[in-house]
Amino acid sequence: MSAPQEFLFATGNAHKVVEMQELADALGPRVRIRGAREAGGMPPVVENAGTFAGNAAKKARVLHLVHPEAWVLADDSGLCVDALNGEPGVESANYAGPAAPGAKNIAKLLRALKGVPAERRRAYFVCVLYVVLPDGREFGFRGQVDGVILDAPSGAGGFGYDPVFKPDGCTKSFAELGAAVKNPISHRGRAWVKLGKWLRDGGG
Ligand code: IMP
Repeated sequence: MSAPQEFLFATGNAHKVVEMQELADALGPRVRIRGAREAGGMPPVVENAGTFAGNAAKKARVLHLVHPEAWVLADDSGLCVDALNGEPGVESANYAGPAAPGAKNIAKLLRALKGVPAERRRAYFVCVLYVVLPDGREFGFRGQVDGVILDAPSGAGGFGYDPVFKPDGCTKSFAELGAAVKNPISHRGRAWVKLGKWLRDGGG
C-alpha cells in the first residue's frame, strides 16, 4: 500500500490538527495531517481578505513560502445568517470581541435575532479548504450546510455556534447530534469530501 499523502496544515492550534485528522480518517482517503507547529511554527497571518477562500488562501500561501516542498493545507470557516446580511461570516470567531468564547458569540447572535420569526432565521456554515502544491498550483474546496438559528442554545457538545444551529433535515442542534452525525453533513465534512475526491482522482 502506498504511503498516505501528507499535508502540512496551516494552523498553530494542536486541537484543530487532531480534529482535521479525525475528519479525514472518517471520510477518507487515507492522509496524514501535520500541524505547522511540528514544522517550526505557523507564521502570523492577518485574516483580513474579507472572504473565507481569501483567508484560507492567505494562510496556505504563507506556509507554502516557508515550506515549498510540502503539500500545504489551510482552512477557514464561519456562520452566515441571512437576516444579518451574512454576518458574522468571516468574523465568526471574533463576533463578540477578539477570539470571544462561543457562549458570548451565541449571546450576541441571539440578541441580534431577538423577535425574528423562525422562517427568517435561515443560516449556513461555510468551510473552505485550500491546498497549495509544491509547484505553486492552488486548489480550493468549499463546503456548506444550511439550517436555522434556534431561539435558545440546545445541547452541550461541539463548539462555537453548534448549540444554536439546527441543520436542515435534523430535529436537533449540531451540539446535540454529536461528531459521528455532524461530520459527514457539516460544512467541513462536505469540503473534505470534495478534497478527498480530488485526491482520489490524482490530486492535481
Ligand atoms: P475558524 O475556521 O477556526 O477561523 O473558525 C471560525 C469560527 O467559526 C469559529 O471560531 C466558530 O465560532 C465558527 N465555526 C466554524 N465552524 C463551526 C462549527 O462547525 N460549529 C460551530 N461553530 C463553527
